Amino acid sequence: MSTSIKIRNLIKRFGNVVAVNNVSLTVEPGHFLTLLGPSGCGKTTLLRCLAGLEDPDGGEIYIGDKLVFSHDQGISLPPGKRDLGLVFQNYALWPHMTVQQNMTFALEIQKQPKGEIETRAREALAEVQMTGYADRYPREMSGGQQQRIALARMLAYRPKVFLMDEPLSNLDARLRMDMRAEIKHLHHVSGATTVYVTHDQVEALTMSTQIAVMREGVLQQLDTPDRVYHFPANLFVADFIGNPKVNLLEGVVDGDHSVNLGSFRIAVDTHGSTGDVIVAVRPEDVVISTTPVSGAVEFAAYSVLPAGADSTIIAQRQETEITARVMGISTISLDDKIWLSFDPRTLNLYEKASGNMIVSGEGTI
Ligand code: ATP
Repeated sequence: MSTSIKIRNLIKRFGNVVAVNNVSLTVEPGHFLTLLGPSGCGKTTLLRCLAGLEDPDGGEIYIGDKLVFSHDQGISLPPGKRDLGLVFQNYALWPHMTVQQNMTFALEIQKQPKGEIETRAREALAEVQMTGYADRYPREMSGGQQQRIALARMLAYRPKVFLMDEPLSNLDARLRMDMRAEIKHLHHVSGATTVYVTHDQVEALTMSTQIAVMREGVLQQLDTPDRVYHFPANLFVADFIGNPKVNLLEGVVDGDHSVNLGSFRIAVDTHGSTGDVIVAVRPEDVVISTTPVSGAVEFAAYSVLPAGADSTIIAQRQETEITARVMGISTISLDDKIWLSFDPRTLNLYEKASGNMIVSGEGTI
């Protein structure tokens, strides 16, 4: 039942701005792809092109085997012919209609049989745990409940593809977390191929099977959440994903297995590269000891920030500052001497000039 999406060399311009710049990507059937990137990077425009709400300036889009857009062939199917379900930021529930009417409206236009409409609406409401709300108006429900109804409406419509643009951005932090779990479960149950837009990296990491990171209209990396997090293709992706942020340490290659970071060296396979490089290490991968350890480098604890489940430690050595993260409440005090060590498998090496990865912790790429 689920279907693939293929985007080939898609271009969309607004005047001088190239909002989508030659993007090609494939979403395999049943996958949950998140378009992730900072404000203005072209995520919404790409989603709107998929939906048929924008007319691209180049490229092709297939939904399943159906060519829904081709610039060269002059094909552009309207949204209604693309078999999509859309959920946008503002829910877009009709305010003058009850939940039931909101749910059944599109199905009635489709001329589905009455019994079928009733069944689908009932099942979809149960799916989002909103049974019993059919007679309410949107104004009689909380933002989160309205959001669930918007999702239920999409489920009842049973499209082959779900498209969602920041559907959780209006919700408070707690509800957002609940809804993440909800959407992930709904995706699991429905198996529908999903494209989801967000600038929130946690949303992307927690819900997706694939993440496409974008910057200024250009696709930077398309990969699993695990790989985008652990092996970012370039410094932009490395820096955008992760909280606290990844440590990016500037240095100079100093032989085959060493980078000189100024006041100390770090052991990493430099794989024949030369010149200025950046060593990237995630805060949770920095190993801290409160006593001297062979091979570890002495730092001072500049700041210690316990946050219940984990603590963030800012370590300083001359000009170098490194953020480390440890589980639980740290017993380290400010200005304590601490010793940091680095597992080469957790280090990624980037060329400073291009920002591209030279060597990943898992070996040469
Ligand atoms: P956000 O997270 O803020 O929604 P986004 O990544 O979704 O950002 P888009 O909304 O796709 O980004 O915008 C990409 C670029 O295209 C931006 O520079 C934006 O200003 C521009 N743009 C988008 N829509 C239009 C439009 N209708 N007219 C002119 N420029 C537009």
